[in-house]
Amino acid sequence: MQPTVSARLPHLTSRLQGFGTTIFTEMTLLAQKYDAINLGQGFPNFEGPEVIREAAVSALRSGENQYCRMYGIPTLNAAVARHQQRFWGLEYEPETEITVTSGATEGLAATIQALCETGDEVVVFEPFYDSYRACIAMAGAVDRIYTLEAPEFRIEAERLEKTITAKTRAILLNTPHNPTGRVFTAAELEVVADLARRHDLIVISDEVYEHLVYDGEEHIPIATLPGMRQRTVAVSSAGKTFSFTGWKVGWTCAPPALTHAIRTAHQFLTFCMSPPFQAAIAVALDLEDEFFEQLRNEYAHRRDFLCKGLEDVGFDVLTPRGTYFVLADIRPLGWTDDVEFCRMLPAEVGVAAIPPTAFYVDKDAGRHLVRFAFCKTLDVLEEGLRRLDRLG
Ligand code: PMP
Ligand code: GLN
Repeated sequence: MQPTVSARLPHLTSRLQGFGTTIFTEMTLLAQKYDAINLGQGFPNFEGPEVIREAAVSALRSGENQYCRMYGIPTLNAAVARHQQRFWGLEYEPETEITVTSGATEGLAATIQALCETGDEVVVFEPFYDSYRACIAMAGAVDRIYTLEAPEFRIEAERLEKTITAKTRAILLNTPHNPTGRVFTAAELEVVADLARRHDLIVISDEVYEHLVYDGEEHIPIATLPGMRQRTVAVSSAGKTFSFTGWKVGWTCAPPALTHAIRTAHQFLTFCMSPPFQAAIAVALDLEDEFFEQLRNEYAHRRDFLCKGLEDVGFDVLTPRGTYFVLADIRPLGWTDDVEFCRMLPAEVGVAAIPPTAFYVDKDAGRHLVRFAFCKTLDVLEEGLRRLDRLG
């Protein structure tokens, strides 16, 4: 069984046939079964700041437990606006341009449902986060794939332009990029922006790793490029930045007309997000700059630790500049197929990882790679590396 291709399921609509069970579910189950160190699914093994948890508890206790405003509690919409201003210099009006969603996942789903007609085409960059193509399919739209080629994973103008047709509605961008760890440069983003302006396209910009950039790299929201704010839907969430992936607090930022459309879909997908968690993330987004610096420094340290260890084991490591994932080439260790490798790993070595072909249509482009997550404490990374050493 391939991760994204599965046998025809009797009750499932044709739109969703072939999407199978997510690779995260499969690999985390394997990790549990074999008591493996889980460097697969991207969730921290540590808690986010106590002050944020306390804010959620106090909201729960003070009775913020009924349905709330469909597009977000006022304090969170306002906090998202302040955050966009403080870090990226972008002004968004909290009441008409910001929508709180159930994680970035629902933000993306609502956006795609709202903006794509049946048959519209959406350009996605492969390897892609796995929900993109399923959301596009559920909307009756069609994906057009641009392959980011290993090991550079660059956006090239000529090749990207070839994915655009008269039916293209949107380009779905993700920077910093899961799973490659690329932080796209201003020049690469300008390639996307130029196409969007010339072909009158929307850019859906998934920025959930906006704060996880290293080596002095800079995350550039595409909405900051000339003429782009008006055609960009920025999607982000609190999961990675504050280490509460299970809370699923996300948001979209887009001009009023786009936001109006997104809210129309959002109100029928989930209606509203849990108020206590919204209240807590409103506090989180206002944490002082030092919190965000420390987050980056700690992650840079974890990245260096894991990358060095993987190199010592014998992998060819593609050092990421952003996110909390690293791709490593398995060929120097005598392996050629990522799925085989990742299915062997939990039982034989006691470590779980993700086979990147789950994020590719063109499986050959990613078969030689494996993805490890470094959102783990150093002792866990160390134990993972100690076990992986058996491979060498
Ligand atoms: N986009 C990307 C690129 C991701 O890696 C993830 C995984 N967490 C998401 C979106 C989903 O974010 P959330 O958990 O906020 O729904
Ligand atoms: N974003 C996480 C990852 O890429 C997983 C999210 C999920 O499990 N759906 O590992």
